[in-house]
Amino acid sequence: MSSNENAITALDTETVRQIAAGEVVERPASVVKELIENSLDADATRISVAVESGGADGIRIRDDGIGMDEDAVQRAIKEHTTSKIDDINDLASGVGTLGFRGEALYTISAVSKMTIRTKPRDGNRGTELHIEGGTVVDVEAAGCPEGTVVEIRDLFFNTPARRKFLKTTATEFDHINTVVTHYALANPDVAITLEHNDREVFATTGRGNLESAVLSVYGREVAESMISITTGDIESDRITAIEGLISHPEKTRSTRQYLSTFINGRYVEARALREAIINAYGDQLAANRYPFALLFLDIDPGSIDVNVHPRKMEVRFDNETGVRDAVTNAIREALLSAGLIRSRAPRG
Ligand code: ADP
Ligand code: MG
Repeated sequence: MSSNENAITALDTETVRQIAAGEVVERPASVVKELIENSLDADATRISVAVESGGADGIRIRDDGIGMDEDAVQRAIKEHTTSKIDDINDLASGVGTLGFRGEALYTISAVSKMTIRTKPRDGNRGTELHIEGGTVVDVEAAGCPEGTVVEIRDLFFNTPARRKFLKTTATEFDHINTVVTHYALANPDVAITLEHNDREVFATTGRGNLESAVLSVYGREVAESMISITTGDIESDRITAIEGLISHPEKTRSTRQYLSTFINGRYVEARALREAIINAYGDQLAANRYPFALLFLDIDPGSIDVNVHPRKMEVRFDNETGVRDAVTNAIREALLSAGLIRSRAPRG
Protein backbone atom coordinates (compact mmCIF):
# COMPACT_ATOMS: atom_id res chain seq x y z
CA MET A 1 0.00 0.00 0.00
CA SER A 2 1.54 3.29 -1.01
CA SER A 3 1.76 5.95 1.66
CA ASN A 4 -0.84 8.22 0.07
CA GLU A 5 -3.41 5.56 -0.87
CA ASN A 6 -5.84 6.99 1.66
CA ALA A 7 -5.16 10.61 0.83
CA ILE A 8 -8.23 12.67 -0.06
CA THR A 9 -7.85 14.25 -3.47
CA ALA A 10 -10.18 16.36 -5.59
CA LEU A 11 -11.56 14.58 -8.66
CA ASP A 12 -10.65 16.20 -11.94
CA THR A 13 -13.43 17.96 -13.87
CA GLU A 14 -13.60 15.26 -16.51
CA THR A 15 -14.23 12.55 -13.90
CA VAL A 16 -16.83 14.63 -12.10
CA ARG A 17 -18.67 15.14 -15.40
CA GLN A 18 -18.64 11.48 -16.26
CA ILE A 19 -19.99 10.53 -12.84
CA ALA A 20 -22.76 13.12 -13.19
CA ALA A 21 -23.50 11.90 -16.72
CA GLY A 22 -23.90 8.38 -15.35
CA GLU A 23 -26.68 9.60 -13.07
CA VAL A 24 -28.73 10.84 -16.01
CA VAL A 25 -27.66 8.45 -18.72
CA GLU A 26 -27.82 4.95 -17.38
CA ARG A 27 -28.59 3.16 -20.64
CA PRO A 28 -29.89 3.88 -24.16
CA ALA A 29 -33.46 4.16 -22.88
CA SER A 30 -32.44 7.11 -20.69
CA VAL A 31 -31.21 8.94 -23.79
CA VAL A 32 -34.47 8.22 -25.58
CA LYS A 33 -36.45 9.48 -22.60
CA GLU A 34 -34.59 12.79 -22.39
CA LEU A 35 -34.76 13.41 -26.14
CA ILE A 36 -38.49 12.64 -26.39
CA GLU A 37 -39.13 14.99 -23.48
CA ASN A 38 -37.23 17.72 -25.29
CA SER A 39 -39.29 17.16 -28.45
CA LEU A 40 -42.54 17.30 -26.48
CA ASP A 41 -41.41 20.44 -24.67
CA ALA A 42 -40.60 21.90 -28.10
CA ASP A 43 -44.26 21.57 -29.01
CA ALA A 44 -43.80 18.81 -31.58
CA THR A 45 -46.82 17.22 -33.27
CA ARG A 46 -44.78 14.39 -34.81
CA ILE A 47 -41.88 12.56 -33.20
CA SER A 48 -40.08 9.61 -34.71
CA VAL A 49 -37.69 7.47 -32.74
CA ALA A 50 -35.38 5.09 -34.62
CA VAL A 51 -32.85 2.93 -32.85
CA GLU A 52 -30.26 0.38 -33.91
CA SER A 53 -29.21 -2.67 -31.91
CA GLY A 54 -31.09 -1.74 -28.78
CA GLY A 55 -29.80 1.82 -29.03
CA ALA A 56 -26.17 0.89 -28.38
CA ASP A 57 -25.21 1.56 -32.00
CA GLY A 58 -27.52 4.43 -32.82
CA ILE A 59 -30.47 6.50 -31.65
CA ARG A 60 -32.19 9.10 -33.82
CA ILE A 61 -35.06 11.31 -32.72
CA ARG A 62 -36.71 13.62 -35.18
CA ASP A 63 -39.36 16.20 -34.33
CA ASP A 64 -41.29 18.98 -36.01
CA GLY A 65 -41.06 21.22 -32.95
CA ILE A 66 -39.97 24.83 -32.57
CA GLY A 67 -36.33 24.10 -33.40
CA MET A 68 -33.35 26.25 -32.50
CA ASP A 69 -31.25 28.85 -34.26
CA GLU A 70 -27.48 28.54 -34.19
CA ASP A 71 -27.10 30.64 -31.09
CA ALA A 72 -29.71 28.67 -29.17
CA VAL A 73 -28.29 25.27 -30.06
CA GLN A 74 -24.79 26.35 -29.06
CA ARG A 75 -26.16 27.41 -25.69
CA ALA A 76 -28.41 24.36 -25.30
CA ILE A 77 -25.52 21.90 -25.27
CA LYS A 78 -23.68 23.62 -22.44
CA GLU A 79 -24.00 22.54 -18.82
CA HIS A 80 -27.03 23.79 -16.88
CA THR A 81 -28.57 25.70 -19.76
CA THR A 82 -32.31 25.62 -20.12
CA SER A 83 -34.96 27.79 -21.70
CA LYS A 84 -37.57 26.35 -19.33
CA ILE A 85 -37.09 27.87 -15.87
CA ASP A 86 -35.34 30.96 -14.57
CA ASP A 87 -34.86 30.11 -10.93
CA ILE A 88 -35.94 27.87 -8.08
CA ASN A 89 -39.21 29.77 -7.62
CA ASP A 90 -40.39 28.44 -10.98
CA LEU A 91 -39.91 24.93 -9.60
CA ALA A 92 -41.97 25.58 -6.48
CA SER A 93 -44.93 26.73 -8.55
CA GLY A 94 -44.83 23.44 -10.48
CA VAL A 95 -43.07 23.07 -13.81
CA GLY A 96 -45.18 22.84 -16.93
CA THR A 97 -42.38 21.34 -18.99
CA LEU A 98 -40.96 17.83 -18.76
CA GLY A 99 -37.36 19.04 -18.61
CA PHE A 100 -35.93 21.83 -16.51
CA ARG A 101 -32.54 20.74 -15.25
CA GLY A 102 -30.77 21.84 -18.40
CA GLU A 103 -28.36 18.94 -18.21
CA ALA A 104 -29.63 16.27 -20.59
CA LEU A 105 -28.15 17.43 -23.89
CA TYR A 106 -24.87 18.24 -22.24
CA THR A 107 -24.52 14.96 -20.36
CA ILE A 108 -25.62 12.81 -23.31
CA SER A 109 -23.13 14.58 -25.54
CA ALA A 110 -20.43 13.97 -22.93
CA VAL A 111 -20.75 10.19 -23.31
CA SER A 112 -21.47 9.83 -27.04
CA LYS A 113 -20.97 11.20 -30.52
CA MET A 114 -23.91 13.49 -31.14
CA THR A 115 -25.20 15.28 -34.21
CA ILE A 116 -27.93 17.90 -33.94
CA ARG A 117 -29.66 19.28 -37.04
CA THR A 118 -32.17 21.95 -36.24
CA LYS A 119 -34.07 24.80 -37.79
CA PRO A 120 -36.45 27.18 -36.00
CA ARG A 121 -40.02 27.48 -37.20
CA ASP A 122 -40.13 30.25 -39.82
CA GLY A 123 -36.35 30.41 -39.67
CA ASN A 124 -34.52 30.53 -42.96
CA ARG A 125 -31.39 28.77 -41.84
CA GLY A 126 -30.67 25.37 -40.35
CA THR A 127 -27.67 24.43 -38.25
CA GLU A 128 -25.78 21.17 -37.97
CA LEU A 129 -23.59 20.58 -34.97
CA HIS A 130 -21.27 17.67 -34.18
CA ILE A 131 -20.17 16.98 -30.64
CA GLU A 132 -17.87 14.21 -29.42
CA GLY A 133 -17.42 13.46 -25.76
CA GLY A 134 -18.81 16.88 -24.86
CA THR A 135 -16.60 18.84 -27.26
CA VAL A 136 -18.04 20.61 -30.28
CA VAL A 137 -16.04 19.40 -33.28
CA ASP A 138 -17.98 21.05 -36.09
CA VAL A 139 -20.78 23.58 -36.66
CA GLU A 140 -22.13 24.42 -40.08
CA ALA A 141 -25.17 25.78 -41.85
CA ALA A 142 -27.40 23.00 -43.09
CA GLY A 143 -30.46 22.63 -45.24
CA CYS A 144 -33.05 20.86 -43.11
CA PRO A 145 -36.77 20.97 -42.39
CA GLU A 146 -38.15 22.93 -39.43
CA GLY A 147 -37.70 21.06 -36.20
CA THR A 148 -34.87 19.10 -34.68
CA VAL A 149 -33.08 15.82 -35.31
CA VAL A 150 -30.74 14.49 -32.66
CA GLU A 151 -28.55 11.52 -33.54
CA ILE A 152 -26.48 9.61 -31.05
CA ARG A 153 -23.76 7.18 -32.13
CA ASP A 154 -21.42 5.07 -30.04
CA LEU A 155 -23.06 5.68 -26.70
CA PHE A 156 -20.54 5.31 -23.84
CA PHE A 157 -17.61 5.11 -26.30
CA ASN A 158 -15.48 6.99 -23.75
CA THR A 159 -16.84 5.23 -20.65
CA PRO A 160 -16.00 1.59 -21.48
CA ALA A 161 -17.04 0.33 -18.03
CA ARG A 162 -20.58 1.54 -18.62
CA ARG A 163 -20.65 0.31 -22.20
CA LYS A 164 -19.65 -3.14 -20.96
CA PHE A 165 -22.64 -3.24 -18.61
CA LEU A 166 -25.21 -2.80 -21.35
CA LYS A 167 -27.51 -5.80 -21.47
CA THR A 168 -28.53 -7.72 -24.58
CA THR A 169 -30.00 -5.89 -27.56
CA ALA A 170 -33.41 -7.36 -26.71
CA THR A 171 -33.30 -6.12 -23.11
CA GLU A 172 -32.08 -2.64 -24.01
CA PHE A 173 -34.71 -2.37 -26.72
CA ASP A 174 -37.37 -3.50 -24.27
CA HIS A 175 -36.50 -0.56 -22.01
CA ILE A 176 -36.68 1.81 -24.97
CA ASN A 177 -40.01 0.37 -26.07
CA THR A 178 -41.41 0.87 -22.55
CA VAL A 179 -40.31 4.50 -22.47
CA VAL A 180 -41.63 5.38 -25.92
CA THR A 181 -44.89 3.54 -25.20
CA HIS A 182 -45.47 5.63 -22.08
CA TYR A 183 -44.95 8.89 -23.93
CA ALA A 184 -47.16 7.73 -26.80
CA LEU A 185 -49.96 6.90 -24.34
CA ALA A 186 -49.55 10.12 -22.38
CA ASN A 187 -49.59 12.23 -25.56
CA PRO A 188 -52.25 10.85 -27.91
CA ASP A 189 -52.32 14.21 -29.72
CA VAL A 190 -48.74 13.70 -30.89
CA ALA A 191 -47.98 11.17 -33.66
CA ILE A 192 -45.19 9.05 -32.24
CA THR A 193 -43.44 6.27 -34.14
CA LEU A 194 -40.87 3.76 -32.97
CA GLU A 195 -38.51 1.82 -35.25
CA HIS A 196 -35.96 -0.79 -34.31
CA ASN A 197 -33.36 -1.86 -36.88
CA ASP A 198 -35.46 -0.27 -39.64
CA ARG A 199 -38.63 -2.11 -38.67
CA GLU A 200 -41.65 -0.23 -37.39
CA VAL A 201 -42.66 -1.32 -33.89
CA PHE A 202 -45.65 0.99 -33.55
CA ALA A 203 -47.00 4.27 -34.81
CA THR A 204 -49.72 6.33 -33.18
CA THR A 205 -51.90 8.59 -35.27
CA GLY A 206 -51.70 11.73 -33.14
CA ARG A 207 -55.43 12.18 -33.56
CA GLY A 208 -55.86 12.77 -29.91
CA ASN A 209 -57.71 10.03 -28.19
CA LEU A 210 -56.35 7.59 -25.68
CA GLU A 211 -58.31 4.64 -27.09
CA SER A 212 -56.67 4.99 -30.49
CA ALA A 213 -53.22 5.32 -28.91
CA VAL A 214 -53.86 2.11 -26.94
CA LEU A 215 -54.96 0.39 -30.14
CA SER A 216 -51.72 1.41 -31.91
CA VAL A 217 -49.49 0.43 -29.03
CA TYR A 218 -51.10 -2.67 -27.49
CA GLY A 219 -53.24 -3.96 -30.37
CA ARG A 220 -56.94 -4.59 -30.89
CA GLU A 221 -57.54 -7.36 -28.40
CA VAL A 222 -56.31 -5.33 -25.45
CA ALA A 223 -57.87 -2.11 -26.71
CA GLU A 224 -61.28 -3.75 -26.92
CA SER A 225 -61.16 -5.04 -23.36
CA MET A 226 -60.58 -1.59 -21.89
CA ILE A 227 -63.02 0.08 -19.52
CA SER A 228 -62.81 3.81 -19.00
CA ILE A 229 -62.34 5.48 -15.66
CA THR A 230 -63.83 8.87 -15.14
CA THR A 231 -63.57 10.92 -12.02
CA GLY A 232 -66.16 9.84 -9.51
CA ASP A 233 -66.46 11.39 -6.07
CA ILE A 234 -63.00 12.55 -5.21
CA GLU A 235 -62.65 13.12 -1.50
CA SER A 236 -59.33 14.85 -1.60
CA ASP A 237 -59.24 18.46 -2.72
CA ARG A 238 -55.65 17.93 -3.83
CA ILE A 239 -56.65 15.54 -6.63
CA THR A 240 -58.56 17.25 -9.39
CA ALA A 241 -59.04 14.35 -11.79
CA ILE A 242 -58.54 10.63 -12.18
CA GLU A 243 -58.97 9.31 -15.69
CA GLY A 244 -57.81 6.52 -17.90
CA LEU A 245 -58.45 2.98 -19.02
CA ILE A 246 -58.24 -0.34 -17.24
CA SER A 247 -58.57 -3.82 -18.67
CA HIS A 248 -61.22 -6.39 -18.03
CA PRO A 249 -60.09 -8.52 -15.06
CA GLU A 250 -59.57 -11.45 -17.38
CA LYS A 251 -57.29 -9.53 -19.73
CA THR A 252 -54.10 -9.74 -17.71
CA ARG A 253 -50.37 -10.37 -17.94
CA SER A 254 -47.90 -11.98 -15.59
CA THR A 255 -45.93 -8.77 -14.95
CA ARG A 256 -46.80 -5.39 -13.48
CA GLN A 257 -45.20 -3.76 -16.54
CA TYR A 258 -48.55 -2.79 -18.06
CA LEU A 259 -49.69 -0.78 -15.07
CA SER A 260 -48.82 2.68 -16.35
CA THR A 261 -49.34 5.66 -14.11
CA PHE A 262 -49.08 9.33 -15.01
CA ILE A 263 -49.23 12.38 -12.80
CA ASN A 264 -49.97 15.76 -14.34
CA GLY A 265 -49.09 14.29 -17.73
CA ARG A 266 -45.78 12.82 -16.61
CA TYR A 267 -45.11 9.08 -16.44
CA VAL A 268 -44.17 8.05 -12.92
CA GLU A 269 -43.21 4.87 -11.14
CA ALA A 270 -45.34 4.88 -8.05
CA ARG A 271 -45.75 1.71 -6.09
CA ALA A 272 -48.62 3.25 -4.14
CA LEU A 273 -50.59 3.77 -7.35
CA ARG A 274 -49.86 0.30 -8.72
CA GLU A 275 -50.97 -1.27 -5.46
CA ALA A 276 -54.10 0.86 -5.39
CA ILE A 277 -55.02 -0.38 -8.87
CA ILE A 278 -54.45 -4.04 -8.05
CA ASN A 279 -56.30 -3.64 -4.79
CA ALA A 280 -59.36 -2.29 -6.59
CA TYR A 281 -59.79 -5.52 -8.55
CA GLY A 282 -59.89 -7.47 -5.28
CA ASP A 283 -60.47 -11.18 -5.85
CA GLN A 284 -61.36 -10.64 -9.50
CA LEU A 285 -57.69 -11.07 -10.43
CA ALA A 286 -56.15 -14.52 -10.58
CA ALA A 287 -53.02 -15.01 -8.47
CA ASN A 288 -49.95 -13.27 -9.88
CA ARG A 289 -51.89 -11.76 -12.77
CA TYR A 290 -51.93 -8.02 -13.43
CA PRO A 291 -54.28 -5.95 -15.57
CA PHE A 292 -53.45 -3.34 -18.17
CA ALA A 293 -54.03 0.09 -16.73
CA LEU A 294 -53.43 3.63 -17.86
CA LEU A 295 -54.11 5.93 -15.01
CA PHE A 296 -53.88 9.70 -15.35
CA LEU A 297 -54.01 11.71 -12.15
CA ASP A 298 -54.14 15.46 -11.88
CA ILE A 299 -52.85 16.51 -8.50
CA ASP A 300 -51.96 19.85 -7.01
CA PRO A 301 -48.21 20.05 -7.83
CA GLY A 302 -47.61 21.47 -4.35
CA SER A 303 -48.65 18.18 -2.73
CA ILE A 304 -46.21 15.92 -4.56
CA ASP A 305 -42.48 15.72 -5.10
CA VAL A 306 -41.34 14.47 -8.49
CA ASN A 307 -37.88 15.77 -8.04
CA VAL A 308 -36.49 12.90 -6.00
CA HIS A 309 -34.05 11.67 -8.63
CA PRO A 310 -32.41 13.04 -11.81
CA ARG A 311 -34.31 10.47 -13.83
CA LYS A 312 -37.47 12.05 -12.46
CA MET A 313 -39.65 8.99 -12.51
CA GLU A 314 -40.34 8.53 -8.86
CA VAL A 315 -42.84 10.54 -6.94
CA ARG A 316 -43.72 11.13 -3.29
CA PHE A 317 -47.14 12.15 -2.03
CA ASP A 318 -47.88 14.34 0.96
CA ASN A 319 -51.02 12.33 1.57
CA GLU A 320 -50.34 8.86 0.22
CA THR A 321 -53.29 7.19 1.89
CA GLY A 322 -55.70 9.74 0.46
CA VAL A 323 -54.30 9.20 -3.04
CA ARG A 324 -54.45 5.41 -2.73
CA ASP A 325 -58.07 5.52 -1.59
CA ALA A 326 -59.11 7.91 -4.34
CA VAL A 327 -57.53 5.67 -7.01
CA THR A 328 -59.00 2.46 -5.64
CA ASN A 329 -62.44 4.08 -5.42
CA ALA A 330 -62.33 5.44 -8.96
CA ILE A 331 -61.42 2.02 -10.34
CA ARG A 332 -64.00 0.20 -8.19
CA GLU A 333 -66.57 2.62 -9.54
CA ALA A 334 -65.59 1.82 -13.14
CA LEU A 335 -65.63 -1.95 -12.52
CA LEU A 336 -68.98 -1.62 -10.77
CA SER A 337 -70.51 0.31 -13.70
CA ALA A 338 -69.23 -2.33 -16.09
CA GLY A 339 -70.92 -5.00 -13.94
CA LEU A 340 -67.62 -6.69 -13.16
CA ILE A 341 -67.83 -6.37 -9.40
CA ARG A 342 -70.79 -6.06 -7.05
CA SER A 343 -69.79 -3.74 -4.24
CA ARG A 344 -67.88 -0.50 -3.77
CA ALA A 345 -65.69 -1.68 -0.92
CA PRO A 346 -62.83 -3.96 -1.92
CA ARG A 347 -62.85 -7.37 -0.26
CA GLY A 348 -59.93 -8.46 1.89
P1 ADP B 1 -33.85 20.97 -20.33
O1 ADP B 1 -34.76 20.13 -21.18
O2 ADP B 1 -33.86 20.52 -18.91
O3 ADP B 1 -34.06 22.44 -20.51
P2 ADP B 1 -31.78 19.94 -22.05
O4 ADP B 1 -30.31 19.82 -21.89
O5 ADP B 1 -32.54 18.69 -22.31
O6 ADP B 1 -32.34 20.69 -20.78
O7 ADP B 1 -32.06 20.96 -23.23
C1 ADP B 1 -31.49 22.26 -23.17
C2 ADP B 1 -32.30 23.24 -23.99
O8 ADP B 1 -32.17 22.93 -25.38
C3 ADP B 1 -33.80 23.23 -23.74
O9 ADP B 1 -34.16 24.04 -22.64
C4 ADP B 1 -34.35 23.75 -25.06
O10 ADP B 1 -34.33 25.16 -25.08
C5 ADP B 1 -33.34 23.26 -26.08
N1 ADP B 1 -33.79 22.03 -26.80
C6 ADP B 1 -33.42 20.76 -26.53
N2 ADP B 1 -34.01 19.88 -27.36
C7 ADP B 1 -34.79 20.60 -28.19
C8 ADP B 1 -35.67 20.27 -29.29
N3 ADP B 1 -35.88 18.99 -29.67
N4 ADP B 1 -36.30 21.29 -29.92
C9 ADP B 1 -36.12 22.58 -29.53
N5 ADP B 1 -35.30 22.96 -28.51
C10 ADP B 1 -34.65 21.99 -27.84
MG1 MG C 1 -34.50 18.10 -21.56
